[in-house]
Amino acid sequence: MREAAFILFVLFLLFGLTALRYRKQIAGILALGRTLKEMKENARSDHPAEQINDQASRELRSCAGCGTWIDTSAAIKFDRNTFYCSKECVQRSMASA
Ligand SMILES: [Zn+2]
Repeated sequence: MREAAFILFVLFLLFGLTALRYRKQIAGILALGRTLKEMKENARSDHPAEQINDQASRELRSCAGCGTWIDTSAAIKFDRNTFYCSKECVQRSMASA
């Protein structure tokens, strides 16, 4: 009976050491599984209508202050055709005008 307990102890020890040795790989596999699950959930929640709206707002304009190309959704709209990349550019062009 003592031998059985010893064998179990050794097996437990070996399992523990293996888990310790490969903990990075195990964590990696778990993270990969989680990422795949998240990707699947994201793919399911992607509505085509949202994508179209998203693309419409992804129009590039050049900043009237410094000429940098910026996304209109991130730009500061001054008037219909004037966009600025930052407040600094607005202030700079106000000062020079
Ligand atoms: Zn600018």
